[in-house]
Amino acid sequence: MTHTRCPGCPDGTKGPGKYLCHGCWTGLTMAARRALKRRDRQAIDRLQELYRQLGANVPLTKITITP
Ligand SMILES: [Zn+2]
Repeated sequence: MTHTRCPGCPDGTKGPGKYLCHGCWTGLTMAARRALKRRDRQAIDRLQELYRQLGANVPLTKITITP
């Protein structure tokens, strides 16, 4: 099992199948986490929504994910 770099912070690592490291994940709002945990056909779109906002330096607490 390999850990890859967390896209949300400079030195976090995330486990396989995870979107973010634990610290970043818990920094998201409850609503964002709930949306991201759903695995359906829109899951990839939501993940890209997350990564787009991380890339734009949106603070974790301000990231919104379409439910
Ligand atoms: Zn992180």
